[in-house]
Amino acid sequence: MVLPNNINEDGRWYRQLERPAVYLTYDDGPNPSVTFPLLDILEGAGAAATFFVSGYAMLSDMHVRCLREIDARGHGIGNHGLVHERGCCPRFSEMHDRILDKCGVSTKLIRPPYGDRSIALPYMSEESEAVGFLWSALFHDWNPLDVRLVPAMFPKCLVPGAILLLHDGFVPGNAYTRRDQVISLTQLIVDNCRMTGIQLKSLACEFQNSYQSPHVPAN
Ligand SMILES: [Zn+2]
Repeated sequence: MVLPNNINEDGRWYRQLERPAVYLTYDDGPNPSVTFPLLDILEGAGAAATFFVSGYAMLSDMHVRCLREIDARGHGIGNHGLVHERGCCPRFSEMHDRILDKCGVSTKLIRPPYGDRSIALPYMSEESEAVGFLWSALFHDWNPLDVRLVPAMFPKCLVPGAILLLHDGFVPGNAYTRRDQVISLTQLIVDNCRMTGIQLKSLACEFQNSYQSPHVPAN
């Protein structure tokens, strides 16, 4: 599905950017069995992405190690909330502090669960530097997907400034929890961008003033 272009209400919500690159974004992780292979694909292609991580997916040491690896390999980390339930407060502030505690990243990039901007408003008003990102295209990859059909969407999806929504993790309530299809989906996107000369960049790099990665803790 390709959504209408560019919302930028009060300068802090983006669905598409007026820049030449394409922005891969992954929600609901980290999910070590999927996220680590994704990092390898991205590294092999010289591509960067943004991972909007969920508190639900930060429970074990391995998940935290995965989070640190995302940062260490130069990708952006965004806040997808501590809680991921429809209509519930995502508790962005607590999630911000958890990310900071676990990997030393103070992110101002946020994406509300289900793209529900209304539940992000309290945080946006408290934290004036928070910048919200939705997406210009998604692939319904929280359901089983015939990845072979996806390249037909590329002419509309892979356009300058596009923000693509994919899922490396899953959250309570997802009926389908396998996410390995996102690995082949990412490979297809990366290959297509390489062929067409499109750069894949991290939102964090484009919004330096809204993102600081001061250090990675020693332990
Ligand atoms: Zn989500």
